[in-house]
Amino acid sequence: MNSPIQKKTFQNQSIYIKRDDLLSKEFSGNKARKFAYFLEHDFTNVKKIVSYGSNQSNAMYSLSVLAKLKSWEFEYYVTHVPDYLEQNPQGNYKYALDNEMQVILQKKKPLKSDIKNKEVLFIEEGGREPYAEYGLKILASEIKTWKSEQGFDDINIFLPAGTGTTVLYLQKNFKDQVYTVPCVGDENYLREQFKVLEENEAFYPTIIRPSKKRHFGKLYRESYNIWLKLQANMGIEFDLLYDPHGWLTLLENPQIFDRPVLYIHQGGLIGNESMLARYKRKYDENI
Ligand SMILES: *Cc1c(COP(=O)(O)O)cnc(C)c1O
Repeated sequence: MNSPIQKKTFQNQSIYIKRDDLLSKEFSGNKARKFAYFLEHDFTNVKKIVSYGSNQSNAMYSLSVLAKLKSWEFEYYVTHVPDYLEQNPQGNYKYALDNEMQVILQKKKPLKSDIKNKEVLFIEEGGREPYAEYGLKILASEIKTWKSEQGFDDINIFLPAGTGTTVLYLQKNFKDQVYTVPCVGDENYLREQFKVLEENEAFYPTIIRPSKKRHFGKLYRESYNIWLKLQANMGIEFDLLYDPHGWLTLLENPQIFDRPVLYIHQGGLIGNESMLARYKRKYDENI
């Protein structure tokens, strides 16, 4: 597991991009890092993964790939599936169903403590699990090797956060500054998420407050615009849920560019199928 780092220029800033979207076609992005532990170890008792979350989650799709690779069953709890999606499956939902995900509709989320069966591997929403540190240590060590090859002293790393698992374990295993912006909830929510996994605040990344609050999963003109621009100028397709908010916030903070900046591309491109359809319906058809 190793992904290339490419040097690019965007809006007159030089930036390095860690292309974790290229790790592999099926199992890629930060979910491949977070679930690497499960892929690379044997779990002789396990027969089934149980998890829960949104009906278009990137983690859901990656778990369906993991289950397929391991020949495990995969049960996924959702609180609702819109009629439209049920009748026209697309994006992560469609591809996870193709991998034989079993969807269970239930208002109450399942709890790890309720599951006593040794054949079940329970995974928290979005892969917020201590096991994630295993794969993120590998990511940190790839970055360390690259940094010394480049002859850099200190660098700044930037990546947007959901559960915060990726950014937390990256900072914990990397001594230079790691910056992030919350995409789900605010700074306090993100700190609470860090606390679930790590008591010691010395390991926490630096949280940047965005100039504008954006709701997770909502569509914004400026988010679509920057996504189109990133693709046109750098030839890289970024994710539509987290990356636009990440890039908009990074570019508002030019002080981060006082050192070489490494942006982590965390994958999620299969999820773009459904997001892009929504963006096109909203903006492209009535220009
Ligand atoms: C899951 C995901 C994130 C958020 O990762 P966390 O570890 O939950 O913070 C960010 N970007 C993409 C593309 C993702 O799929």
